[in-house]
Amino acid sequence: MDFWQKDITYLKKVGPQRAKALQQELGIYTYGELLHYYPRKYVDRSLVSPVGTLPGDGSFATLVGKIVKKDVAKTQKGRGRLSARFTDGTGFIELTWFRGIKWMDTKIKKGAEVAIFGKVDQYNGKLQMVHPELDFLQGDGEAANTLAIVPFYPSGEKLQRVGLDARGFRAIFRHLLEEGGNLLHEFLPAEIMRKNKLIPRDQAIRAIHFPPSFGQLQQARRRLKFDELFLFQMLLARKRGAAKASHQASPFPNVGDYFNDFYNNHLPFSLTNAQKRVIKETRRDLAQSAQMNRLIQGDVGSGKTMVAFLTMLIAKDNGFQSALMAPTEILADQHYRKLGVYAEKLGLKIALLVGGQRAKERREVLEMIASGEASIVVGTHALIEDKVVFKRLGLTVVDEQHKFGVMQRAKLWNKAQPYPHNMLMTATPIPRTLAMTLYGDVDVSVINELPPGRKPITTAWRGESKRLEVFGFIRSELEKGKQAYVVYPLVEESEKLDLLAATEGQELLQRAFPNFKVGLVHGKMKSEDKDIEMKLFLDKKADILVSTTVIEVGVDVPNATIIMIENAERFGLSQLHQLRGRVGRNADQSYCILMSGPKVSKEGKARLQAMVDTTDGFKISEFDLKLRGPGDFLGTRQSGLPEFQLANIAEDQDILADAREAAFSLHDQDPNLSLPQHQQLRAAFAIYSKKYGKLGTIA
Ligand code: ADP
Ligand code: MG
Repeated sequence: MDFWQKDITYLKKVGPQRAKALQQELGIYTYGELLHYYPRKYVDRSLVSPVGTLPGDGSFATLVGKIVKKDVAKTQKGRGRLSARFTDGTGFIELTWFRGIKWMDTKIKKGAEVAIFGKVDQYNGKLQMVHPELDFLQGDGEAANTLAIVPFYPSGEKLQRVGLDARGFRAIFRHLLEEGGNLLHEFLPAEIMRKNKLIPRDQAIRAIHFPPSFGQLQQARRRLKFDELFLFQMLLARKRGAAKASHQASPFPNVGDYFNDFYNNHLPFSLTNAQKRVIKETRRDLAQSAQMNRLIQGDVGSGKTMVAFLTMLIAKDNGFQSALMAPTEILADQHYRKLGVYAEKLGLKIALLVGGQRAKERREVLEMIASGEASIVVGTHALIEDKVVFKRLGLTVVDEQHKFGVMQRAKLWNKAQPYPHNMLMTATPIPRTLAMTLYGDVDVSVINELPPGRKPITTAWRGESKRLEVFGFIRSELEKGKQAYVVYPLVEESEKLDLLAATEGQELLQRAFPNFKVGLVHGKMKSEDKDIEMKLFLDKKADILVSTTVIEVGVDVPNATIIMIENAERFGLSQLHQLRGRVGRNADQSYCILMSGPKVSKEGKARLQAMVDTTDGFKISEFDLKLRGPGDFLGTRQSGLPEFQLANIAEDQDILADAREAAFSLHDQDPNLSLPQHQQLRAAFAIYSKKYGKLGTIA
């Protein structure tokens, strides 16, 4: 059996009791898993001081010398004390133990050569060190605790109870590396190591446990981070390969009349370069018989809808229907109207399917879909119901994809055989690094450019004392004929309170703005009522719309140029950014005003300041990722990520990019790792994928 696959119970210095603790506390079962349990920190105890120079002021020192005298004394309470005198020839120091005396007494002998580390004090005018760290330097002594950069392993009560404190771990690792030192095989191909300037694996593993210098520790960490990220990216590359091979769709080889007619004669604006690039990427996918699965990330207002529409025209040019699914009726309706205008120019039929439709209307719509009369179908979750049957569905577009579950999207995709091509759209950009880390089965396109002429939204952060000024400003904008959103936070503890805050807010604002009409939408309203209120606002029958966060998603009221967010410190960063995206939807200058209470946490302040500093959604999400760490950032929503020991995807973006490039190009070159120079890697990857194989799928 492979040495690293052995059960830790059989490792010297471990045994059944410690093995059980390691298994239960750390999930470590094999030598190999133990090997990758890395220190949490390091303390430099390598520098040896002469005793004669010690000030005895409580500072720490490493000393090397001899025990010259030993003495066990009983104290009054019957407890003992072990004292030993130590010298290195330049002076004397008293070592004292109050605990573990019996054991220490058998170990310490007069004349023993030792290295010690500890805090040096003065007691009765003499130098003293209580409970020093101590290594014996003769015989099979293990100077693992002094005289070096010393590792500290994460431990805990249960581990300490079986002697697995920092000292215990050091002894184990010293032993493990002695026994397995020649078996730390290199698994990275030489080419990848050279290109990425990585040190050999055996050197890295030794150095992460017992670093000869901090410089070498640094290199070791880089190499081992690379390994973690590389293996995960190998897994993703493989997943992608498998998905491409097994999910066949009908290729769309033609870019024909519909697309060209619209592109040449009816585009209402010229596309941004980013839009053009994404359409090009999409066209390339569609020409293949492998199913397209492309996630379009684009900030609010970046023009994802047009990209979707042009893609739908390619489907039409190849004789297929398209379906666009949106998370709310408001959004579906908005898309329906907007795409309807475009489709009309080409004489194409478009259908809307939402929950609230009357039976007769619904029947007609279903008929249009089934007969193929509707080339484009826009709808909500209603689209995935069994009754909805397409004549020839070739493309699905899911807007605000994160609002849908995996099953819902899958249900839509299952409405056609062969499978349709899929486009997923999101305005909640996740940082590129995270996208690279997470998605194996999805390609990512980014629209990282806003249409020209957009003025960046001016964002201000104001306290309560500035409220009158803020109201004055809002009034002046309303008088110019503009509209404003005022958002109250959801009160998590109680939906009633939430409603109360928004209702009171409406009353308060109505008093403050007596000449204007103030509308209200909140989470407890029925969706028809919400739609009615939203329409009133859209038709400018209300000037101010008070809401809880229900307006967060996709709503488009270009005339609204102000959004004021109450208790902004209570919102997450991406939510704030989404809310801000409700304004700035045409060429007029827009404003976002963040109101906060007097007490804002440090993190809250950082969030609000980030909002003031930038309007770039990707920068915001990068910042959010750093602020919260990958776990919190992703929440329970996306859980496709393994736990990395060393790598932190927020901080190690460069290593991640290198590791991804290395893994994907290796996969292209030798997908089954069958070349002779890849056999070590093949073995390492087999173990890895057994453990993590389920990860890396879009959630
Ligand atoms: P989102 O990416 O948030 O879904 P939309 O597709 O709703 O953005 O586009 C936002 C607004 O910008 C729409 O009114 C749309 O017509 C307009 N728009 C999109 N692309 C361009 C462009 N290239 N030039 C000018 N306006 C554009
Ligand atoms: Mg949109």
